[in-house]
Amino acid sequence: MDKSSDIDKLKREVDKIDEELVGKLAERKNLTERVQKLKREGGLPAIDREREKQIIERLKKLFGGEIDDALITKLYSAILSDSTRSGRTKERVSSAKNILEALQTNPIIIAGPCSIESGEQIDRTAAQLSNYGIKFLRGGAFKPRTSPESFQGIGEEGLKYIRAAADKYDMFVVTEAMCSSHLDKYYDYLDVVQIGSRNMASYGFLKEVGKATAEDGKPVLLKRGFHSTLQELVYAANYILEYGNPNVMLCLRGIRTFEQIDSKMRNTPDLASILELKEATNLKVIFDPSHSTGDSKYVEAVSKAALLLGADGLIVETHYSPKDSISDKEQCVFPETVERIYNFAVDYNDFAKSLY
Ligand code: PEP
Ligand code: MN
Repeated sequence: MDKSSDIDKLKREVDKIDEELVGKLAERKNLTERVQKLKREGGLPAIDREREKQIIERLKKLFGGEIDDALITKLYSAILSDSTRSGRTKERVSSAKNILEALQTNPIIIAGPCSIESGEQIDRTAAQLSNYGIKFLRGGAFKPRTSPESFQGIGEEGLKYIRAAADKYDMFVVTEAMCSSHLDKYYDYLDVVQIGSRNMASYGFLKEVGKATAEDGKPVLLKRGFHSTLQELVYAANYILEYGNPNVMLCLRGIRTFEQIDSKMRNTPDLASILELKEATNLKVIFDPSHSTGDSKYVEAVSKAALLLGADGLIVETHYSPKDSISDKEQCVFPETVERIYNFAVDYNDFAKSLY
């Protein structure tokens, strides 16, 4: 009898401490949100791994005797990730809003090299493109090459270069994520998440993309599998849409048909599919004249045809010096070609408007 009333008394004390603990956690969160806000205003990174380590080490030193080290690490990993995540979510939502606003332009022109090769290469290409009014800078850091012997991209270093160039020239980064670990590690480098043709049917990955982008609505550029039907492309988009991100753009990039027996083109440009996709979905349709033809001499004509057929935009492989491209140099154009295509689109829009 006595014992149970003692237990009850102690339990009530425990309850009180729990209330105080969670109350203190709320106070802590409030303070860390203020820190995150100041970091955002100062353009500083949201996460400081060194500081996180110091916090945990300090607590272990102070309380290690009474509380298990592993428990301190576990508890604080959860608390620290909660405070940086809540700051980051707000930051991400507002940055996704800016990207979506920029995507309202007609046409959407995405240009840049096949692969990011160096800081100089992406900076020089971006400088020229931005001068012509281009807002979306492409470039692969991780390249899905058919042969493992081919150049695979320069990885995170490349993402840093393209991010720096885009920030410098007030552009947005369009780059491919090849797997969910890229989404985890590099999310903030990407303004538009490109899914490559070879990954269009990786349904597990598409679900990861849907989950990762659901919260902030970051746009996704989904490329058609070069062996996929239009229905399969639409289904693949649905995998992402189902998680609640409505901002999926479909990219036609050429398909492999029997023409490739004797056609010199890398693929058959799936131009007429623009008409069908525009009818079948409300999603934006982007055409890729580079991979669909594989030859720089056709890029301008096919781009114009795509725009006349109603494409919402283009993604064009561009290099300040195409002959020096490490990958896909045969299909790469000078920034001046993109300027001509862009001017054509603007003139055509004016003409189309004058008809109504
Ligand atoms: C690309 O655009 O960088 C690319 C690799 O294209 P695709 O996935 O269409 O082959
Ligand atoms: Mn390429």
